[in-house]
Amino acid sequence: MKVIGLLGGMSWESTLTYYRIINEGVRARLGGSHSAECVIYSVDFEPVEQLQHEGRWDELTEVLIRCAQRIEAGGAQLLLICTNTMHRMADEVEAAITIPLIHIVDATAEEIVRAGIGTVGLLGTRFTMEEDFYRERLRLGFGINVVIPGEEDRETVHGVIYEELVRGRIEERSRLEFTRVIESLADRGAGGIVLGCTEIPLLVGPDDTDVPLFDTTRIHATAAVAAALGAGGHP
Ligand code: GLU
Repeated sequence: MKVIGLLGGMSWESTLTYYRIINEGVRARLGGSHSAECVIYSVDFEPVEQLQHEGRWDELTEVLIRCAQRIEAGGAQLLLICTNTMHRMADEVEAAITIPLIHIVDATAEEIVRAGIGTVGLLGTRFTMEEDFYRERLRLGFGINVVIPGEEDRETVHGVIYEELVRGRIEERSRLEFTRVIESLADRGAGGIVLGCTEIPLLVGPDDTDVPLFDTTRIHATAAVAAALGAGGHP
């Protein structure tokens, strides 16, 4: 079994989910008392969030690289950045370490392609929805078209992530808002919705809508288990 490196804390609410899914996945594959070998580096999110909103991405790149190198030095044999937004700097981080990085967009895109869906709606932070790094990787790398919510709904989704979800608040009112936005993206041609922020699955899930959902936290964590154990063997 390979040692899984998790660059987490963005937020810790979703890192917990990664940790649980990875350990459950290893137990499902190996049985008994087996659990995952992990190295977790969990950051303090407040200064990270501040730098994001000030657009100081170069400084954040340095932060991520430092953390990733510590994780590698701690013995990890593969790395996950446990947030969609911070994949904005995935290429720089990947170049600064010698262990493989499992990219959240690639793992998600492979599931979308397997489901035979050509157009998806994307929910995430404003950075993830509006900038190129996420949508272009889906489009150029995998031929997947992306639709995003309108300006006002993007504001709502971004606000709920930073004011509620990363602070551990799950509000029914926001669940209804997200469900409405999901349905409106489906009306605009999305055959499925990428929950492109690792906290969104804490708020909405398959019980809230009939539209297929791609839970990036689950997909990314599951890809790590496959990489750590090798693809073969028991499911
Ligand atoms: N966890 C979120 C994501 O997947 C947002 C927190 C962050 O900005 O890193 O994008």
